[in-house]
Amino acid sequence: MAVIVAVDTFDVRFPTSRELDGSDAMNPDPDYSAAYVILRTDEGPEGHGFTFTIGRGNDICRMAIETLAPFVVGVDPDAVDLGAFARELTHDSQLRWLGPEKGVVHLAAAALINAMWDLVAKRAGKPVWRYLADLTPEQIVDLVDWRYLTDALTPEEALRILRAAEPGRAGRIAALRARGYPAYTTSPGWLGYDDEKLARLAKQAVVDGFTQIKLKVGADLSDDVHRFQVAREAVGPGIRIAVDANQRWDVGVAVEWMRALAPYDPWWIEEPTSPDDVLAHAAIRTALATAAPNGGPIRVATGEHVQNRIVFKQLLQAGAVDFVQIDACRVGGVNENVAILLLAAKYGVPVCPHAGGVGLCELVQHLSMFDFVAVSGTTEKRVIEFVDHLHEHFLAPAVVRDGYYVAPTEPGFSAEMSADSIAAYSYPDGPAWA
Ligand SMILES: [Mg+2]
Repeated sequence: MAVIVAVDTFDVRFPTSRELDGSDAMNPDPDYSAAYVILRTDEGPEGHGFTFTIGRGNDICRMAIETLAPFVVGVDPDAVDLGAFARELTHDSQLRWLGPEKGVVHLAAAALINAMWDLVAKRAGKPVWRYLADLTPEQIVDLVDWRYLTDALTPEEALRILRAAEPGRAGRIAALRARGYPAYTTSPGWLGYDDEKLARLAKQAVVDGFTQIKLKVGADLSDDVHRFQVAREAVGPGIRIAVDANQRWDVGVAVEWMRALAPYDPWWIEEPTSPDDVLAHAAIRTALATAAPNGGPIRVATGEHVQNRIVFKQLLQAGAVDFVQIDACRVGGVNENVAILLLAAKYGVPVCPHAGGVGLCELVQHLSMFDFVAVSGTTEKRVIEFVDHLHEHFLAPAVVRDGYYVAPTEPGFSAEMSADSIAAYSYPDGPAWA
């Protein structure tokens, strides 16, 4: 028995725009930021969580977290029903008006739901991936808000998927501990880097054990062709190179642009257009179905800005994507991501999470590892994004070794930022900004 006695919030911003780390065609000057929350209890560990933004507006997310805080104060983390808790946060009848289930209030709910998972897992002495993977199929199904999903996936079908994966759980946990979970890196590919830096970082990625890298595209076609050529020469033909347009294009431009990049064999095109536009993704995927040098497809990926499970459902129903890219902080936290993992498993579409930013690698690794152990049962064609920025601010940073995420062993969600970093980068009064 314990009780959450306070919810403390912080506006933490890192001045990443000064180095052009994270620069892409849509977001030229991001300051990676966390609307950060600490759940204080009357005894035992704290729960840490956040949602990710790129600077301005982080204060609005923080305010929304404070608006939701009354739903959290007074909760006993040892007795909380995590499914009901998440549904309560996302379905308040007045706050729901501001979404529903999208936008600032949904990001704020994600921060609080993730913080609650951190707290519950810490009290159980397990990392979140393992906490999830030790639940029964029935308990996992109860985490999900089934509203609006049952035309694509019913709780009974989800139970069948989870039960089918049960016999192999122990073996896959052992495999995760031995090897980890495959990663790819975006570190070489930011738009603001020159040729020398691109080639050097791309070669380094291969030396570091990665079999996939990613380039940002979408600002200037001839420049993209040139950069892709530089990257392809640097890594050779055997390494997958994905490209990411960060929502820059309309359908026609996306198809034209990707045909121009096709000779260099792109593995996927990520966020070619608006994340809300299911039919546009389907049209782009169809248009590029034979565009690769071998006559195969240029695959379509999206998800980091997909606002909720319903849009993911439609992307899958419409055959609009080859890869689902979940984000740990964009949708309603762990619970809604469990729903999306189950949907993707039903449709047989691999999940390759979005990460980077600040803390996204730390969080999302838990979700992919849970997917491998208890849902899809495979890592085939699956990779978690890795960007080597800002990990030093976390007490249990994500570790990638030989191209694999090492399975976290620390209890919780790997979400805890050091108190020093929170103080130093608090906006606008921390020393990094003052
Ligand atoms: Mg992206």
